[in-house]
Amino acid sequence: MSTDDLVAWIRAFRDAVTDHKDELTRLDSEIGDADHGSNMARGLDAVVAKLDPAPASPAELFKTVGMTLVSTVGGASGPLYGTLFLRMGPALPSPDGVDTAALGAALRAGVEGVIARGKAEPGDKTMIDALSPAIDAWDAAADDGPAAAARAAAEAAARGRDATEPLVARKGRASYLGGRSAGHIDPGAASSTLLLEALADTLAAAE
Ligand code: ADP
Ligand code: MG
Repeated sequence: MSTDDLVAWIRAFRDAVTDHKDELTRLDSEIGDADHGSNMARGLDAVVAKLDPAPASPAELFKTVGMTLVSTVGGASGPLYGTLFLRMGPALPSPDGVDTAALGAALRAGVEGVIARGKAEPGDKTMIDALSPAIDAWDAAADDGPAAAARAAAEAAARGRDATEPLVARKGRASYLGGRSAGHIDPGAASSTLLLEALADTLAAAE
């Protein structure tokens, strides 16, 4: 994968979040404070504004994305998505070339960073419920190449997102609702699924 492919991924994520902004905000209105769609759309607009001229390497790209999300997205999701990207670059075996195993390792380091920062475990009804199965699915499909690994990851994320619906939230703002948080999909799990679907679509188009 080239730096351009990864830049295209981030642009596609911005476009997907913009398209789903109202839906993400509606999910957050049910178990949060109705700002997840606008938070993420604003942050990703700021990210995309920094991608022209394009960063010189995947490591530079991920650093720019992470720093921009930390500084522009409020709430819980800004620092968490920021951490995801800030941990990815240093986990790349080489700062320049990225293959399927390298991107999988970077994504895993990013998700482990989110877990370390937010202290959420699978089943707590957070973005981790989409991200954690996604990185496992990536590794399981990695021998089939980046597009197949990304598609498997996106499908696992979507299943994880849907599985948040009956859960009672144990982390984040939704946990204040206790049992009333059940019956709603977690907004961060929904946006994380968009992240992986954007990657799968971008890598399929690059093949
Ligand atoms: P806020 O809750 O501060 O308004 P957002 O609405 O932007 O922030 O994001 C909410 C999402 O953040 C939740 O749906 C959940 O997926 C995620 N989240 C919240 N707290 C945590 C945590 N401790 N670990 C992982 N994800 C979390
Ligand atoms: Mg919110």
